[in-house]
Amino acid sequence: MSNYDVVDLIIAKRDGHRLTDDQIKWFIGTYAAGDVIADEQAAAMAMAIFFQGMENEELNVWTTAMIESGARLDLGNSGRPTVDKHSTGGVGDKITLILAPLVVACGVAVPQLSGRGLGHTGGTLDKLEAISGWQPFVDNESMRAQLRDVGGFIAGATSDLAPADRKMYRLRDVTGTVDSIPLIASSIMSKKIAEGAEGLVLDVKTGSGAFMQEFDQAVKLARTMVDIGNANGVNTRALVTNMDTVLGDAAGNAVEVQESLDVLAGGGPADTIEITLALAREMLDVAGIDIDPEPFLSDGSAMEVFEKMIAAQGGDLSVPLPVATERHIVTAERSGYLKRLDARGVGIAAWRLGAGRARQEDPVSPIAGVVCHAKEGAKLSEGDPILELHLDDVDRLPRALEALQGAIQIGDHPVEPSALILDRVV
Ligand code: URA
Repeated sequence: MSNYDVVDLIIAKRDGHRLTDDQIKWFIGTYAAGDVIADEQAAAMAMAIFFQGMENEELNVWTTAMIESGARLDLGNSGRPTVDKHSTGGVGDKITLILAPLVVACGVAVPQLSGRGLGHTGGTLDKLEAISGWQPFVDNESMRAQLRDVGGFIAGATSDLAPADRKMYRLRDVTGTVDSIPLIASSIMSKKIAEGAEGLVLDVKTGSGAFMQEFDQAVKLARTMVDIGNANGVNTRALVTNMDTVLGDAAGNAVEVQESLDVLAGGGPADTIEITLALAREMLDVAGIDIDPEPFLSDGSAMEVFEKMIAAQGGDLSVPLPVATERHIVTAERSGYLKRLDARGVGIAAWRLGAGRARQEDPVSPIAGVVCHAKEGAKLSEGDPILELHLDDVDRLPRALEALQGAIQIGDHPVEPSALILDRVV
């Protein structure tokens, strides 16, 4: 590989030129390896990509270079097809907690590496840490053993998986370069491909609570990621799903674990069940297994797997989940129909109550969150409860309530709840 002057590469991208394969490999490899490329230079490159985009082949080479900046996970041989899932993140998105054990119960191996929440979207690891004793980080040998013996795991990504992305993502977060399709697609797909699953199903969220608020942009992101996955030998497909309103009845940590347990016990909200089953059908199809997942949810099989997955990582589900010491009810100001319960407003409220973090190193409160007593379309009388805010620090309440200003709208006419599954990209 040649040596380059990084400023020349930044200028080339700034001016809209395609970077050569060799330039990309040098840039990513050198940035990941040390301090030859300064953070401000990598940030300038991210901004140049944000404005100029990348050609398809250029993006494939960029993604491969990110994968090769670290190790690929060796999943061993579990004797089952391995299929993973990734969601681009939303408010109340606890689907992984239900979907992973459900699909394992149907005969698939599910190696699920997850992250922590940032901003108004929650993180799977933060949610599961509300369970007494549960440990997110396990070594590779334990992951392989769990995949073989239980059929799946949900764990924290190790630092040797696409380390170039880890470095770049931290920079993007503080330089206004997160919401770029090529940068998001390469970031997510480098980690997912390095995980080593044979198949991957993506849940690309769109709407007020999602990264990609515009539907067309979400479809473009889905297309870009599906193409990268397939080009790298991972059988990949995506559903584009609605994130204009909260998914399910809870957004937070312990409250989302509780909702997941409710669904695994055969109950729970209809929207959470619908998205879970749609994604499960896609994962089973990718795995080549022709069965209906629904009975595995209602007959307790998925719950049994969930209990094993949690126990294998030290979690004890017999210990009650932590509950809020303070609660505040938001009620309907007038009678009518709930026509808007905005995902972003509720997500920011949950975050400000303590469920999320502003910086990666901040702690989260396991009990903080929002429970919905009414969803879009509900008929309400004045004074009916709409949201229940859970918190352990009352000083947080005013800012959380501020986030809800305008997030709740009540109209005079009946409203149809919006469709949940908006598109499918294969
Ligand atoms: N999640 C990621 O892992 N990367 C992004 O760029 C955005 C979301």
